[in-house]
Amino acid sequence: MTTPWTFDPFHPTRRPTRVVRIGDLLIGGAHPIAVQSMTTTDTLDVDDTVAQAIRLVDVGCEIVRITAPTVKAARALGEIKAKLVAKGVKVPLCADIHFQPAAAMEAVKHVEKVRVNPGNYVDSKAFREREYTDEQYAAEVRRVQDAFRPLVLEAKRRGVALRIGTNHGSLSDRIMNRWGDSPRGMVESALEFVRVCEEEGLRDVVFSMKSSNPKVMIQAYRLLAKHLADDGMDHPFHLGVTEAGEGEDGRTKSAIGIGSLLMDGIGDTVRVSLTEDPCREIPVAKRLVALCRPGTDLTFSLSRPGATEPASVAGESEKVRPVPSFDPYSYARRSTDFTGTIGAHRIGHDAPVLPMVAVASGWIRRDDAIARLRRMALPRSPGTPALEGVLLPPADEDCAAKVSRAIPGLPIIGRDPPMFAFDGEDVERWGNEAEVAFDSTPLPVLMVSVHDGSVHDHRRLSSNDYAIVIHVDLPTDPTDALLYGAAVAGSLLCDGIGDAVRFGGPHEPERLLEMVLGVLQACRLRASRTEYIACPGCGRTLFDLESTTQRIKARTGHLPGVKIAVMGCIVNGPGEMADADFGYVGSAPGFVNLYVGKDIVERNVASKDADERLIALLKKHGVWREPAVAAAT
Ligand code: SF4
Repeated sequence: MTTPWTFDPFHPTRRPTRVVRIGDLLIGGAHPIAVQSMTTTDTLDVDDTVAQAIRLVDVGCEIVRITAPTVKAARALGEIKAKLVAKGVKVPLCADIHFQPAAAMEAVKHVEKVRVNPGNYVDSKAFREREYTDEQYAAEVRRVQDAFRPLVLEAKRRGVALRIGTNHGSLSDRIMNRWGDSPRGMVESALEFVRVCEEEGLRDVVFSMKSSNPKVMIQAYRLLAKHLADDGMDHPFHLGVTEAGEGEDGRTKSAIGIGSLLMDGIGDTVRVSLTEDPCREIPVAKRLVALCRPGTDLTFSLSRPGATEPASVAGESEKVRPVPSFDPYSYARRSTDFTGTIGAHRIGHDAPVLPMVAVASGWIRRDDAIARLRRMALPRSPGTPALEGVLLPPADEDCAAKVSRAIPGLPIIGRDPPMFAFDGEDVERWGNEAEVAFDSTPLPVLMVSVHDGSVHDHRRLSSNDYAIVIHVDLPTDPTDALLYGAAVAGSLLCDGIGDAVRFGGPHEPERLLEMVLGVLQACRLRASRTEYIACPGCGRTLFDLESTTQRIKARTGHLPGVKIAVMGCIVNGPGEMADADFGYVGSAPGFVNLYVGKDIVERNVASKDADERLIALLKKHGVWREPAVAAAT
């Protein structure tokens, strides 16, 4: 057993775990964070699957997962493995199992890892409500564990690893009735399975706790880490946001969930699920790992190469240690009595989180900024250094006009009201100083932004009660900018920190704004567009997910607040589409079922008619707006 893990909001270190062997690959401990993906081919089409697996390996995929929906498909994994080996490709394979213990027992003969979903390995999901006595509940848990035990014994005998892969959307009815649709329910579901592994001495076990909602996913992983540590266990984690969707939405959601955990030192292998060619997942996963893993801590040094953790933080005594403003295991917006206004917009307290952009031009010189700050004669504590900082930039007229056209009514930050930005290394010092200043200064709006700071810097400031502007200077590379901004801002927002999000950096202001709005949308704090929950596809997929999702997006992307799921099959789709308002789910080749919430309202609609039927449903339920009307309001 490694040193027990505890969540430290201010000093992230990698969560200590045991090392798990998956074929020739070792994950956990001090091993590099591995990236992985899943094939989308029909598993029975062995040559197609082999070809896609090789393409994945060529772009850096370190574990290839393949669905095994039947015993026959599980048997095909043996052929796939043999063909890969014959071509000199030794990548570990993982069989993906739902509902089929018999398929798992066949797959374990051919692959290095088997993923089981505790929500449906034995239990069913029929959205049934039933009360269990404690005795009945315990008997059901024993039944499930007994059904799982043969796989555990066989995996141990063959040296095969298991992944206990819990999904928020596919918790069993039994777990839902006892623990609700919650991170705690996800954790309990996983613990029931790992206890069997512990009893039988299978140590090569990995966990995942996926959800399409990054907040739920982050809390579930943290909570599982805590429960495992409390019970003396230390298994590595596979990180992923499920049904993240495609394009920028999928990348943003993934960066928030995965990046947030990586920055806190949680996670040993990563899969970014995109409704796209799986080969496109790998570069995204690699950049996320590079940008967010602790140790390199690019969250701190990205814009200031060579920066190290401030001495004041490294030597921080318990006496001055700030109290975190959040509970890492449940969400609540950070409470502040403070409210102010920016133009016509309220900020702080219960006001919606404000999107902001920092325009690239119009910066005033640092010396001027400091001089002006000093002229403001802010009071400071006796014996402390002079308050030093930079004013945020006045809005540039051109940029302001562009942003106003992009999103009418959006506030552009100018000289008023006063705002201060503090360098990351001075957070501790200036954070305290700022509090003193703000407490005794009748400024119209009191806000603090950690200029170029990390998630952990912002958490320190959040123990005060002024409003917080999360400011992130984005890197130049467009992909890095998207992932990094989402990871830093999203991590804080998912812990309830942040009254405004402000992105700056060498990007067009409209682009900065789009990225801010994407993060707020993914954190479900401010809907500016339709939300899509789309599965990544696998061997069960019944239609072309990528083009279908893009087509549906093109027709329905102007409905802020509406959640639409696009799922490739009815086996897992309805369970996994979580809290979508409407669902478009493959029911057979060429046919689709349409859902309102969890209820099927139209069965086996021909694919050629399904888009129109979906729009008719949106109209019937009063959420449709004609695109021209939506654009004008
Ligand atoms: S919902 Fe999508 S990813 Fe999940 S099993 Fe069905 S087709 Fe595969």
